[in-house]
Amino acid sequence: MTTIAPQAGEVPVLARYEAVIGIEVHCQLRTASKMFCGCSTAYDGAVPNSHTCPVCLGLPGALPVINRRAVELVLATGAALGATTPEATRWDRKNYFYPDLPKGYQISQYDLPLAAAGILTFETAVGPVTVRITRAHLEEDTAKLIHAEGPSGERVSLVDFNRSGVPLMEIVTEPDIRSAEAARRYAEELQLLLRTIGASDADMEHGQLRVEANVSLRPRGTETYGTRVEIKNMNSFRSVERAIAFEIERQAAVLDEGGRLVQETRGWSDDRGETYRMRGKETSDDYRYFPEPDLPPLRVDPAWLDGIRATLPELPAARRERYVGLGLALADAALLTADPDAAALFEATLTADRALEPRPVANWITGDYLRLRNAAGAASLDVAAPELAAVVRLVGDGSISRASGREVLEAHVETREPVAAIVERRGLRQISDVDTLDRIVDEVVAANPAAVADIKAGKDQAIRFLVGQVMKATKGQANAAIAQAAIRKRLGPGASPPDGGS
Ligand SMILES: [Zn+2]
Repeated sequence: MTTIAPQAGEVPVLARYEAVIGIEVHCQLRTASKMFCGCSTAYDGAVPNSHTCPVCLGLPGALPVINRRAVELVLATGAALGATTPEATRWDRKNYFYPDLPKGYQISQYDLPLAAAGILTFETAVGPVTVRITRAHLEEDTAKLIHAEGPSGERVSLVDFNRSGVPLMEIVTEPDIRSAEAARRYAEELQLLLRTIGASDADMEHGQLRVEANVSLRPRGTETYGTRVEIKNMNSFRSVERAIAFEIERQAAVLDEGGRLVQETRGWSDDRGETYRMRGKETSDDYRYFPEPDLPPLRVDPAWLDGIRATLPELPAARRERYVGLGLALADAALLTADPDAAALFEATLTADRALEPRPVANWITGDYLRLRNAAGAASLDVAAPELAAVVRLVGDGSISRASGREVLEAHVETREPVAAIVERRGLRQISDVDTLDRIVDEVVAANPAAVADIKAGKDQAIRFLVGQVMKATKGQANAAIAQAAIRKRLGPGASPPDGGS
């Protein structure tokens, strides 16, 4: 028997049990109109029930018309996930009763989804993980129930049909995920992908991206799946990770005591930090799926699909790989890829000065630019790429110090004044000329015999004193590194660092 140590970032119970996790994501597609009618999807902040018509209210006799753009966005998602699309697909009715579903059924796709058998690869704390995507299909969103208090304090439930019929894409993974962290990372990567291809705004706080997880445990080294529990109501990436980590611990505790788990749907309470039972799990039999009689089967023209594939932008994984190829650390490549504003500035700065090394440009953006942007609480800062390029170049060739570069960038963000003008006006240009500095070093050495004696006696910290004198003599404009080198050269082997001398 082998013992498998828990991997970094995993909880200790994973030494004994293997977590088997599958994720289901529902995301609202970025379309102007609803799935089967012309009502606008821009209902955020609108008067309740103002974006409705007989189709999305489910009135008798109203007939659905397919939203072409919504189909395109699912096809684009499938293409981005490397999935396959059948030549012909169709619509199915998923029957159930609930007050937010006026027709008594949801138009969805059952056995012929628009995309199947894809993959998504993403980075985790323990390295890259690839998850198989079972399917991505198209359906319609439900209305929204609002539980409130009536005029005389009684509890009332209100229904707002503005969301009813909004195009919804469901993306389901195989049970390939093995840790809570990987589940969160999957959801983050999927959000980035959906935003990159323009399929969805995928904002979790606005309910545009909803994540559900199926979690089960099995003893390490066994193959049979355990009893799985579905977790709902996770409203942030952080709660996805917390809820799954909690559920792994909860299931392990039940199994450790020799108990049995029940197949059920559990909610996640962010405040209490725990999952709770909502209901027993439905199976597909409960929904009496059958082909939608009001819509014809949908044929996907191969030329249409090829056109969608050809217009996909650079995908996040490819962009990260390209940035690493430019010499960036993986963490910086990932940070820039996940931040379209920062990535745009990175690309524009490299274009503005093709002689620049990509790595320092990335460092300036992931460090100082993001710091200034966060401080401003803005989505983007008005930094002209050629001006950032100037800062990187001036610091890189020693014309100004790193600290001055920071000061100049900050001033440019505030005033939009060109970088060169700020440097001249504030007198930030350093003396990096070796001959000039040699001359000043000679003067400083002649004027400070005690410090020179200390250095010759091996007291290396006296060098710092002499560098300080050079800075004083040049009103702070000397390049400190070059000045220090000049002092070491001038004072010979006695001025070498302690570990380098005889
Ligand atoms: Zn409508």
